[in-house]
Amino acid sequence: YYNKNTVIYLDGQFVKANEASTDLYSQTMHYGYGVFEGIRAYSTADGTSIFKAKEHYERLKNSAELINIPFKYEVQDLIDATYELLEKNNLTDAYVRPLVFCDPNMSLSRPNNVSVMICAWEWGAYLGDKQLRVTVSSYCRPHPRSIKIDAKVCGHYVNSILATTEAKDKGFDEALLLDSDGYLAEGPGANLFFEKDGVLYTPRLGNILPGITRATVLELAEELGMEVKLGLFTPEVLAEADSAFYCGTAAEVIGIASVDEREFPLNWNDSLGKKLQEAYSKLVRKSHKTLSSVYQ
Ligand code: PMP
Repeated sequence: YYNKNTVIYLDGQFVKANEASTDLYSQTMHYGYGVFEGIRAYSTADGTSIFKAKEHYERLKNSAELINIPFKYEVQDLIDATYELLEKNNLTDAYVRPLVFCDPNMSLSRPNNVSVMICAWEWGAYLGDKQLRVTVSSYCRPHPRSIKIDAKVCGHYVNSILATTEAKDKGFDEALLLDSDGYLAEGPGANLFFEKDGVLYTPRLGNILPGITRATVLELAEELGMEVKLGLFTPEVLAEADSAFYCGTAAEVIGIASVDEREFPLNWNDSLGKKLQEAYSKLVRKSHKTLSSVYQ
């Protein structure tokens, strides 16, 4: 992720990654009480473009506010800092990771002060480019009355790590988590879509992270004239589906070959997912000018 020349952004300054330090008494370190983002920058005809930068930094702000972490930054300043960070590290296609972490405080009350760090590195497709063999996890997503499910909180990712590790230990590529009522929710780091009889389905918000890629896919589906249904769906419905895919900033759009023993019958190349994968790949690499509404 970094080498001796890598620079990170830390509270308004650019510092060497291997010289930056933090306090071991941070509330984030002990309780997972921090928020973060995962963003991608793409090289376009007009130079590097951070895809949906505003949406990501606004979600970061919203995540912080949802869990009472004071957020003292301007979204535009963080976007500007990210462009500068990419330039300083000579990165064009990159994954960007902002993290808001708390001051030293061993209590369970809200923090007085926080820091922000942003780092970036080159990262290929997070889940690879082969269709995934997925297993339904024994872990469910946290109940929305236990945590703020709409927030991208550090500590929530213990659930994602447990599910991923379990899936890999069982010989699968990736996990699929249900919500606490047994409905389809999402992957450990991506949202789920599936196709049945030419219609696209995806779990409605409420028990999942409101993915920015999910929102983009919904926009693209509409543009492409696809019919989409949002709702609560059981694993039995997925077991009857023709095709499925995951989507997320790191994973982009990636087909799912099978869930447990059942393979999806529709060839990926003939699926709605494949069309959306291509449209997404084009959209993220569009130049600033044509992407201005997204970029600004
Ligand atoms: N669900 C979870 C649990 C995630 O961690 C992610 C990745 N941020 C997503 C969905 C997809 O979100 P996005 O498209 O905003 O990256």
